[in-house]
Amino acid sequence: MSNTSTTDREKQLAEAEEMFGDRLHRSGFAQRFYFGQVKNGRLPEYPEVEADSQTTERVAALRRFCDEKIDAAKIDRQSLIPDDVVEGLGKLGLLGACLPKSVGGEGMSQLNYCRLLEVLGGYCGGTALFVNAHHSIGPRAIVLFGTPEQQQKYLPKLATGEWLSAFALTEVEAGSDASNVQTTATPTPDGKGFVINGEKRWITNGGIARVLTVMARTPIKGSDETKVTAFIVTPDMPGFEVLETRMDKCGVRGSATGRLAFRDMFVPRENILGELGRGLRVALNVLDFGRTTFGATCTGAAKFCVRRALEHANRRVQFGQTLGSFELVKEKLAAMGAGALAMEAATYQTAALIDSGAEEYMLETAMLKVFTTEVLWQTINDTIQIFGGKAYFTDQPYERMMRDGRINTIGEGANDVLKVFVALGGIRAVGLELQDVLGALQRPIGNLGKLGQFASRRLGSMLMSPTVEVRSHELETEAGQLGRMVGLFGSHVERLLRVYQEDILDRQYQLRRVADVATELYVSSCVLTRMDRQIRHSELDAHERARQIELGHYYLKTARRRMHANLAALWDNDDTATTTVADMLLVATKGQNGHV
Ligand SMILES: Cc1cc2nc3c(=O)[nH]c(=O)nc-3n(C[C@H](O)[C@H](O)[C@H](O)COP(=O)(O)OP(=O)(O)OC[C@H]3O[C@@H](n4cnc5c(N)ncnc54)[C@H](O)[C@@H]3O)c2cc1C
Repeated sequence: MSNTSTTDREKQLAEAEEMFGDRLHRSGFAQRFYFGQVKNGRLPEYPEVEADSQTTERVAALRRFCDEKIDAAKIDRQSLIPDDVVEGLGKLGLLGACLPKSVGGEGMSQLNYCRLLEVLGGYCGGTALFVNAHHSIGPRAIVLFGTPEQQQKYLPKLATGEWLSAFALTEVEAGSDASNVQTTATPTPDGKGFVINGEKRWITNGGIARVLTVMARTPIKGSDETKVTAFIVTPDMPGFEVLETRMDKCGVRGSATGRLAFRDMFVPRENILGELGRGLRVALNVLDFGRTTFGATCTGAAKFCVRRALEHANRRVQFGQTLGSFELVKEKLAAMGAGALAMEAATYQTAALIDSGAEEYMLETAMLKVFTTEVLWQTINDTIQIFGGKAYFTDQPYERMMRDGRINTIGEGANDVLKVFVALGGIRAVGLELQDVLGALQRPIGNLGKLGQFASRRLGSMLMSPTVEVRSHELETEAGQLGRMVGLFGSHVERLLRVYQEDILDRQYQLRRVADVATELYVSSCVLTRMDRQIRHSELDAHERARQIELGHYYLKTARRRMHANLAALWDNDDTATTTVADMLLVATKGQNGHV
């Protein structure tokens, strides 16, 4: 039975259509997994990450800058990123890296930008978040949706960092439910603009930005409805108020998280960003870039932890042995090493997918965000365990990294919400095809082509798994296993649809499992293509290459085990008991300060 009424469901579906537009109908690489297929029968080519020597030099320059100027412990203690750090990052081109050259940016690819942000993520989580908010989600909305006039007016100063930017969506009633924005933008009678009223909270750079993208509800002509519209707002607008510039918080303390109010604030009509009533679409598109950058910063932080944990495990002796000689430490180190490699592979592959002008990548960016933020969290936790009590003290970076890392699974789409999105994004397409086929079955004459295509696809996937092509002979077994896993996943998705039909929309235990498998399939394909490239051309010496290939095999092996476990749990689980117990606890504590 569904938890959601038909009216609520229709509203949700209409909102989804509104937000995603034709992106729902485009087919990305990972979406084909849900059909038990590999798009075009081959994995995307893994990028030549280090091919761009200019970026390699910039990476080295950024490392030098971070070594000299970024004192992450001090930034955390003082809750402030010093001006010279911000200026330095601007001079290094980080604050306008991917903005077009025509407006003073560097015109950098997403891949090269990720290489830089990975470095920053390894030094300071707060500074990395500051740059991500300013660069990847702030001006990105203007680049993607701004008019030429808006771009010329705002982007040049944003590109140098002379002006900082922010993206203001979150409010008290609009957290994960972004469509529930309550801030209003009322058109003025003369049609010259809008009067904005409302409050925003937890906005990175909100109180220090010179340009903000603000989401507010606007009326829809000829109806009682309102829809979210994006506006460019500047703090010099009368009625703009900073309630708090730097809210005291758990981690990423260098970043300035603000609270804002708009009181009868006039915003001219020419400051509408994109189309009236299409603000959520602006948000969705912008987040693709922010999430990819999250992948890079998390990878940088994870690599730092792996390096430090390995050094410590080799040095520290207990019971007459180094920590690294204990199996329970080895288990952690192997998972951390393979996790960091997989994070890097998925980040660069996703960035390259965006750079290639791929038709669609919203599932991949959401998968990347969920995967990298969760692996980083586990990695930090394991690092702390390996360091023991030493990690608990503030003279070491690990407790700070734990505090910094905690926001990653919440911000830019809470991971639980993104998992539902990842699962439904793929399942929906399969459901539509099945529906189409059912419709065609009722009128077979005239639909023979459609039925024939479906039948041959089904027959094909029943008889054999999709082929995954690799160039290196030694990876053929891995490629075969990946193909089989994709085929298996497709058949489970179809069975879920037959069993649950529309109710699948509310079966979050199942959706979480589907999302986890789809994500590991995507990451596995990134790892496999990375290995394929490394075996064929790699600048690494033979020893390092062999080490990397071994790590890749280990990730693929352990990912397969996790995927099998999730697929098995689709049909053998404690879901009913989980609901019973959770509901019992919820009812018992409703309206009280109950004790669990
Ligand atoms: C340091 C920091 C910086 C931020 N910067 C910005 C910024 O620059 N701009 C901006 O607009 N916002 C920003 N945010 C806000 C951030 O994007 C939100 O915190 C995030 O969207 C989640 O909303 P929420 O915290 O209100 O959580 P809620 O929506 O209350 O969700 C809480 C939890 O409930 C669960 N949950 C919610 N909905 C569902 C569902 N449908 N299915 C299953 N589980 C669900 C999830 O476990 C989720 O983690 C920032 C927040 C922080 C802490």
